[in-house]
Amino acid sequence: MPKKFETLVIHAGQRPDPTTGAIMTPIYQTSTYVQPAVGQHKGYEYSRTGNPTRKALEDCLAALEGCEFGLAFGSGMAATDTVLRLLQSGDHVVSGNDVYGGTFRLFDKEFRKYGIEFDYVDTTDVRQVEAAIRPQTRLVWLETPTNPLLNVSDIRAIAEVVAARPNRPWLAVDNTFATPYLQQPLALGADLVVHSTTKYLGGHSDAVGGAILTNNEELHARLAFKQNAIGAVPGPMDSFLVLRGVKTLPLRMDRHAENALAVANYLSDNLKVERVIYPFHESHPHYATARRQMRNGGGMVSFTLKGGAAAALKVAERTEVFSLAESLGGVESLIEVPAGMTHMSTADSPLAVDAGLVRLSVGVEHIDDLLADLEQALGGV
Ligand SMILES: *Cc1c(COP(=O)(O)O)cnc(C)c1O
Repeated sequence: MPKKFETLVIHAGQRPDPTTGAIMTPIYQTSTYVQPAVGQHKGYEYSRTGNPTRKALEDCLAALEGCEFGLAFGSGMAATDTVLRLLQSGDHVVSGNDVYGGTFRLFDKEFRKYGIEFDYVDTTDVRQVEAAIRPQTRLVWLETPTNPLLNVSDIRAIAEVVAARPNRPWLAVDNTFATPYLQQPLALGADLVVHSTTKYLGGHSDAVGGAILTNNEELHARLAFKQNAIGAVPGPMDSFLVLRGVKTLPLRMDRHAENALAVANYLSDNLKVERVIYPFHESHPHYATARRQMRNGGGMVSFTLKGGAAAALKVAERTEVFSLAESLGGVESLIEVPAGMTHMSTADSPLAVDAGLVRLSVGVEHIDDLLADLEQALGGV
């Protein structure tokens, strides 16, 4: 019987250390490996190319996305950068129009200058994706739910549209917000999954990392070549931290979602709040797709206030349990105003976010403390 997700997070890719029996994967803090004779080695030659701690993480993440091949990177952006290097000048990319700010910056400020063209569309409308695909389109880049607007796109429907095109672009899904516990894009027809493991996979705000997962052997070989050629790899310590964080992913995601739904319900009843965005809240425009595609609504909640941008800044500075910081997906609750923090790179672009939008990464603290904190913070605006 194939192992269940809750078992894979703890065991996949990991076996007791053969030399000592240590149950935890050792942090192989080494750059090189002794060879008994020229060209003879035990699978490892140099740690940019491969490292046993990183390999355990890569195999574990592949198992979680239900696929065969995994590659770990030094950050989510390094993983995205490596995917984009599959393309060449003259190629075209269809991307979602509210992707992570850093993703947009990489596309717009780096890859565009090499002659790769980008179109940004509302991927929640499959017809817009279909209409934007050209004969030169090599890649469709999808993020769902998106950061920070939590828009949900139908991965299966988009995979079908992409597969029907004669030029058969690759479909890559940034699965950072959902994690493989909530949705597995490869099973829905995607070719590549990309993660910032900095967020929920690591889960403890103590490491920066990224990953690419695929079932396509040829794509994997090309990406593995690039991983080694470019060298944006995670060190053994960070690989270990993510590997350890992943062990509690299902436990954390269930609590994140339970708390986030309670926060969304609380905010939607608060008279100072204008709009609440949470994929599993009935008011969400893609509620039906989210319920069908995701196991739960995740831990992210965004909202706007009737007092606009000024009120948003005030709330973000008044919370005490919710810390004012960028990033997300850790056990601790965070609050931020994307327009002035994580998404500044989208200012004056078609991807610009509302200056009054507040984003919460709802942690796994006691819900009473989280709601009391929001109550006192909203009381001051
Ligand atoms: C944070 C994030 C990234 C970038 O990952 P880093 O690890 O910060 O480089 C990419 N996509 C999404 C959705 C993110 O939230």
